Amino acid sequence: MAVGTELLLGQIVDTNSSWIGEQLALAGIDSHFQTKVGDNLDRMIAAFEQALDRSDAVIVCGGLGPTPDDITREAIAAVMGVGLRRDEAVVERIQAMFYRRDRQMPANNLQQADVPVGARVMDVQPGTAPGLICPVRRGPTGSGAGKVIYAVPGVPWEMQEMVSECVLPDLQARAGERHVIRSRTLRTWGHSESGLAELLEPEMSRLDSTGEATIAFLASGMEGLKVRITAKAADDETALSVLSGVEARARAVIGDAVFGADDDTMESVVVDLMQSQGLTLGLAESVTGGLIAARLTDVPGASRVLRGAVVPYDREIKTGVLGAPDVNAVSSEMALAMAEGACRVLGADVGLATTGAAGPDPHEGAEAGTVWIGLHLDGEGEATRVRFNMARTMVRQLGTITALNLLRTRLLTRAG
Ligand code: ATP
Ligand code: MG
Repeated sequence: MAVGTELLLGQIVDTNSSWIGEQLALAGIDSHFQTKVGDNLDRMIAAFEQALDRSDAVIVCGGLGPTPDDITREAIAAVMGVGLRRDEAVVERIQAMFYRRDRQMPANNLQQADVPVGARVMDVQPGTAPGLICPVRRGPTGSGAGKVIYAVPGVPWEMQEMVSECVLPDLQARAGERHVIRSRTLRTWGHSESGLAELLEPEMSRLDSTGEATIAFLASGMEGLKVRITAKAADDETALSVLSGVEARARAVIGDAVFGADDDTMESVVVDLMQSQGLTLGLAESVTGGLIAARLTDVPGASRVLRGAVVPYDREIKTGVLGAPDVNAVSSEMALAMAEGACRVLGADVGLATTGAAGPDPHEGAEAGTVWIGLHLDGEGEATRVRFNMARTMVRQLGTITALNLLRTRLLTRAG
């Protein structure tokens, strides 16, 4: 059950429910209904009653925040037929969280420590909202048939951590399953879903017959495709060893298109590779206008690698500041000269440059969507042309990740 009036108004898309649905499927737990309900006490209670009538367990996300419209706690207490109590341990957790960020806790946040009597607070608490495990009595009186409501925050990353680490294991324990589930996500870039499926087909059919793990593909837009391996085993050690085996076989067939695992991003991987090779980077970004720099500076420790960036949007800046020759702005010569110029002007070991026609109109004779990427590494230059038949924003973003990926593959080759 996803809570939030903004979901009903179409202001945000309920991606939490799809994510949870997928996790339940992977964990082998049947999920039969998904509901969306606004921030209204009576309607939330009605939705809970209906959900509990037709299911053994209900996961609710959202409405655990500190503002007056966050009333999931009250609705659950009403359904359980109990009141709320302030949980001092949660008060301390929330206070400590503000203290670490050097901020005063607003009094409103105390509300987040109010939990229905009889509910248990989840151990993991990534944000200020605690997750709740709430037992509910249902069915013929005296039968003692217990049902449960799991309440998790609406903030996706907080919700995901709680569902993976608390809700799924608890559900499985209730279902009488005695095994652990571990998963690993390989991040890939450059393959289509059908291409990956073809490469992984032998491994997937092997797993189909052994049943020791599953492989799922998750599209993550311009960030490539994720290949998630999920292993189910009697204990942690076995699950992890199954994962490692499947991961090794998957990497062997996918090759360098795997750029990282789990929380790695294209930019974090590039920063790591540059750092381990003791190299510094200078950027000259025309068509990407600083997007490469923005992604790299998002990575902690980027300052050890990134010297800086020039955004030479006007031809005069390309020639004047970077010392490029007066050639076509969307050409391999320009991309090469900009990459070399970035090295020189910024005092970097490696230069990465982009120039192109973001669209919608052609630019300097180049079709919209054309991006030239220049790379200057170990005294040698190379230029690559790509073309994206897409809207301006996408061209710039795809140009950015393509440039980062080019640098990544060259660094891999260089490391041998
Ligand atoms: P919390 O329980 O943590 O307070 P909330 O739903 O009350 O969650 P909101 O302020 O409504 O808090 O949302 C917090 C963030 O979570 C927003 O960025 C919102 O876009 C996102 N979010 C909430 N519900 C969903 C959902 N069902 N799917 C995807 N994103 C969601
Ligand atoms: Mg909300």
